[in-house]
Amino acid sequence: MCFLFDSFEGWKTYSQTHNQQLHEVVLDYEKEQKGASESDIWSGLAKAYQVMKDAVHTGTTEEMKSRSGMIDNGAKKVANSDITVLSPEFKLLISSALGAKEVNSCMGRVVAAPTAGASGILPGVFTTLQSIHHLEDQTIYEALLIGAGVALILEQKASLAGAVGGCQAETGSAAAMASAGIVYCLGGSTDQIFNAAGITIQCMLGLVCDPVAGLVEVPCVVRNASAAAIANSSAQIALSHVSSVIPVDECAEAMGEVGQSMESRYKETAQGGLAATKTGQALAKKILIQDIEILPSQDAEED
Ligand code: SF4
Repeated sequence: MCFLFDSFEGWKTYSQTHNQQLHEVVLDYEKEQKGASESDIWSGLAKAYQVMKDAVHTGTTEEMKSRSGMIDNGAKKVANSDITVLSPEFKLLISSALGAKEVNSCMGRVVAAPTAGASGILPGVFTTLQSIHHLEDQTIYEALLIGAGVALILEQKASLAGAVGGCQAETGSAAAMASAGIVYCLGGSTDQIFNAAGITIQCMLGLVCDPVAGLVEVPCVVRNASAAAIANSSAQIALSHVSSVIPVDECAEAMGEVGQSMESRYKETAQGGLAATKTGQALAKKILIQDIEILPSQDAEED
């Protein structure tokens, strides 16, 4: 029987005793749970990564204005900005993560990784990493499997849904998946991979889910960019042999405990945080009126 992804420590022990790499343990899980062949899994990963690459391209090159107007070509503005805050690579990371998520907010095609709300993080991180380090696609597919393993454990110990555990569960989990994947791609050890995930959770812990007007746009899009940046900073720290001190399993349990104690207004109900601000409330009212105005009238329907 395959490993059931109930803890990071268990994943490490299983991979050592079965002489498998971390991603191979996930591959076996996918084969057994889905009844899929190995080649089906690799081709599924290839398709998923292609959708991610397409989302980054679309989001950074095409018109990205959401119906509410809250999303207005942010990724292109960053990509074409005259000002480079840190480096061209950092700018690429930020615009790519924003772009892929803007595609989701504009009803385009994305990979929910782990959710649609967090769909810009893995694409932004992996396409940028690949362009800098000239990685093979196969290495990225293996990193995606590592990310899937991280998500499986976080789902058990905490949650992957903003409505259950706040935004830490969505963008936080995606960032942990991405940082573990980065460390894998750059040759890090199992401990470094898990330290990166643990450090990322520490950085994202407590983040509430407060979408303005109940739409997955503000602050969701910009949080995808910041989560991509945190995934990279955590990977850099872990690859430099810095420990997360608190083991990743305990970080995940803390995420679960924090999520459980969060008030419901911080769990996708659009009743707290940014959604409850004066401007957030005004936007919600304006968007509701727009929606009512474009609904066909009763008379028109009867005609
Ligand atoms: S704020 Fe809520 S809806 Fe938006 S990305 Fe975070 S968890 Fe998802």
